[in-house]
Formats: sequence, C-alpha cells, structure tokens
Amino acid sequence: MLGYRFKCSKCGTEYEAFWGDDPMNTGFGEEYRKAIREGKYGPARQKLLLENPDILMNTTERLYVCGHCGSWKVECDMGLYAPRVNHLGEVWWARNLKDEYRIVFKSFHKCDRCGGRMHIEKDGSQLKCPNCGTMNTGEFEYEQYVY
Ligand SMILES: [Zn+2]
Ligand SMILES: [Zn+2]
Repeated sequence: MLGYRFKCSKCGTEYEAFWGDDPMNTGFGEEYRKAIREGKYGPARQKLLLENPDILMNTTERLYVCGHCGSWKVECDMGLYAPRVNHLGEVWWARNLKDEYRIVFKSFHKCDRCGGRMHIEKDGSQLKCPNCGTMNTGEFEYEQYVY
C-alpha cells in the first residue's frame, strides 16, 4: 500500500490517501461473486457473470480524481475481467491476472461532489484539502503488505 499524508497549508486539516500498489488484486473472493450474482453491483455486472461464470472482479483500491472539480477518493476498481481462452476454447490457468485476463466491464467512477467523471491517478502527491479545497503536496509513505 502506498500513499501520501497531508497537512493543509491554509486550514491545517490533516488528511491522507492510501491505495493498493498491485495493478490487479488477486483477492477475488467468492463473496464478491455472490454479491454480483445477486445484483448488488448492478444489472450489467450480474448479466455478464451469469453468462460467463469465470469472470472476476478487480478489487484493487485505486486513487480516483475528478477531472472537473479535482475532488478525490480511494475506491475499489470494480472492473470485471474474463479469462482468455486458447484456440481450443480452453481457459488458461491464470498465473498472472493482468496478462491472462481481459477487461469486459470497465467501471465508471463518479464524483460525489459534482457528478463528474473520475480518472485513476497514479501519482497522488498533490491532492486537494477535503475541507477548504487548497492544493497541498503530501509526504510519501509506503506500507508493505503482510500476508
Ligand atoms: Zn467533481
Ligand atoms: Zn484546508
């Protein structure tokens, strides 16, 4: 997990943003599968999973920034991936999710503040203060996962 800690230069608010450094989280649990099947993640995902039971959801936490107002949040990716198949129609054994799965459903992340479209931000060293909106530069921190 990596991220930044901030102290606002204007109002003094302390805030932090941490997200996953894995491009694809392999923790696609059965609980997500069940929730998608039950429609908790919307009808589009439900339909895809019912059609292709091998589909997985990417649960990596990412930093999203609004292209319109600059608000940000850390949220689960929620994109759906299907395993690639070989010329015989056999599913490859997935060693590497990033290379051996293809995205079939790209998740739309909406800004809570203005409804604008958010994009994945990989840098994240400069984020707006959630209290007053001042742009601040944070201090980098890295936490190694302990499995
Ligand atoms: Zn916004
Ligand atoms: Zn502030």
